[in-house]
Amino acid sequence: MEEINVLINKARLEKRIDEMAREIERDYEGKDIVFLGILKGSVPFMWELAKRLKNNVIFEFIEVSSYKGTESTGKITLHKDIKDSIEGKDVLIIEDIVDTGRTLDFLLEHLKQKNPNSVKIATLLSKPSRRVIELNVDYIGFKVEDKFVVGYGLDYDQKLRNLPYIGYIE
Ligand code: 5GP
Repeated sequence: MEEINVLINKARLEKRIDEMAREIERDYEGKDIVFLGILKGSVPFMWELAKRLKNNVIFEFIEVSSYKGTESTGKITLHKDIKDSIEGKDVLIIEDIVDTGRTLDFLLEHLKQKNPNSVKIATLLSKPSRRVIELNVDYIGFKVEDKFVVGYGLDYDQKLRNLPYIGYIE
């Protein structure tokens, strides 16, 4: 097993998620929010963010994949779509990391057909130097360098999602 270095510890993650929650609460005052989690990596962040909000938060999930091992394939496949209607709803996409931007670009286009009232994006991490498609990301936890990160939902061949911190593999 490769050595894992700590990049962002649990305390820093939680402090930043707290700040993000305050910002979201302000922007969505009195509104219900549909949290649309992108499976599987967004799950820990989704819960940590949701539990800090006073708003009604509705959980929805969508599953797409774009990544094989440590290399982005560039092709997005939709594995699981949303079951319930999001028409007229305020949707906040919850992502673990924005890398090339291809996944979110695909999803924004996909969601348009479902006529939500609004769609915004919250991501725990962003790797701006890797962006291929420019997108407006509304809430960003941390900007990280071009390293392969794991933990807090992020996997290495489906493993390491349960690490309580963000680490990287050299
Ligand atoms: P994008 O479509 O923006 O290139 O990629 C987004 C997806 O790629 C993320 O949801 C995540 O699953 C995966 N990804 C991108 N960078 C990393 C990384 O450093 N580590 C892990 N584990 N997954 C990554």
